[in-house]
Amino acid sequence: MKKIAILGSTGSIGTQTLAVVREQKDIAVTALSAGDNIALLEAQIREFRPKLAAVRTEGLAKELRIRTADLDVTIVSGMEGLLSVATEPDASILVTAIVGMLGLRPTVAAVKAGKTIALANKETLVTAGHLIVPLARQNGVSILPVDSEHSAIFQALQGEARNAVAKLILTASGGPFRGKKTEALKQIRPEDALKHPNWSMGKKITIDSATLVNKGLEVIEAKWLFHVEPEQIQVVVHPQSVVHSAVEFEDGAVMAQLGTPDMRLPIQYALYYPTRRRLSGTRLSLTDLSGLTFEEPDMKTFRGLALAYEAMRRGGNMPTILNAANEKAVTMFLQRKLAFLEIPEMIEACMEEIGFLEHPGLEDILETEAAVHQYIESRWQV
Ligand code: NDP
Repeated sequence: MKKIAILGSTGSIGTQTLAVVREQKDIAVTALSAGDNIALLEAQIREFRPKLAAVRTEGLAKELRIRTADLDVTIVSGMEGLLSVATEPDASILVTAIVGMLGLRPTVAAVKAGKTIALANKETLVTAGHLIVPLARQNGVSILPVDSEHSAIFQALQGEARNAVAKLILTASGGPFRGKKTEALKQIRPEDALKHPNWSMGKKITIDSATLVNKGLEVIEAKWLFHVEPEQIQVVVHPQSVVHSAVEFEDGAVMAQLGTPDMRLPIQYALYYPTRRRLSGTRLSLTDLSGLTFEEPDMKTFRGLALAYEAMRRGGNMPTILNAANEKAVTMFLQRKLAFLEIPEMIEACMEEIGFLEHPGLEDILETEAAVHQYIESRWQV
């Protein structure tokens, strides 16, 4: 029986991972982690019976220990808790469904412990791909993509020689404001940006999709996962979200993966790779499609994507600066302390102001994140 641990089991990817486990019936869950949602975590513990569970604070852990006193489960908390879940000895796969750079240290620990990584937490590869990819190789660990675009590319690459790849074509829905120009984006409120046209996801990635920063993070993620050069990654806006991404090969062939927008498919593909299993759900009916359209992304209006390309080209700690600034900016936007168009402005200011490091180690990355936070606190009302 496969044994898995999940970081972020109460979130959008976490709950969909558990939906796959529930449907397939032959995966054991050994460890779960949540932030604050202990009611849902308790329900998950009762259903899946992990032996370890982690929450954000010791106060929440105390409460959960009382609520689960009738069960054989150890409750831990904080970063130590996340590290314990990530390295739980019986699990062979860790699903990283936590949001943000918080996933960095647990993912590194899991790679060192030899766990296969089913990676949703893209911020980890964006900031530390240069450390994690070689570390995974050294430890004989696979990093399997959960992000739908990267899963599509991974599926299109099966059986193909890596040196036959000409370019990766990453599709983007364009988010809720596709086609709008700067003037129309001035008054965007969090509730407008939280309405994604095709996918239901956590808040942070939904805002990132509206600014196109998410696509930028995915471009950097693709560089690390598939070992390609920045100029080999093309973003194409495809509002119907039917083509999940594609690969163009040297001979001109383009292989794409298509499907309905359902994250359970890439999650299940990562959990059972290289086997495919039946999965319930709506099937794509090609004859019902009224048309598939593709267009260039508008990087002038949605500057987050252009900034991500720039951070990727400059390398070093620049993707960390971009990512840390974006995490803070999104939090402030959701708290109505920052306007929608100020998100890329804040990112750009941080990319200009924070010291550049060409070869950052893990501690340098965490220090860069702290420096970004400090700079933002000194300049903006946080
Ligand atoms: P959610 O916001 O839905 O879930 C985040 C999870 O992380 C929750 O379990 C949350 O716990 C937990 N968490 C948040 N803060 C903390 C904290 N301080 N300490 C411990 N746990 C914490 O996010 P998503 O599932 O949408 O996204 C997760 C990752 O997957 C992101 O990196 C995202 O970019 C990526 N991704 C998501 C996709 C999607 O469809 N949602 C698609 C592709 C990638 P709680 O809720 O209990 O507080």
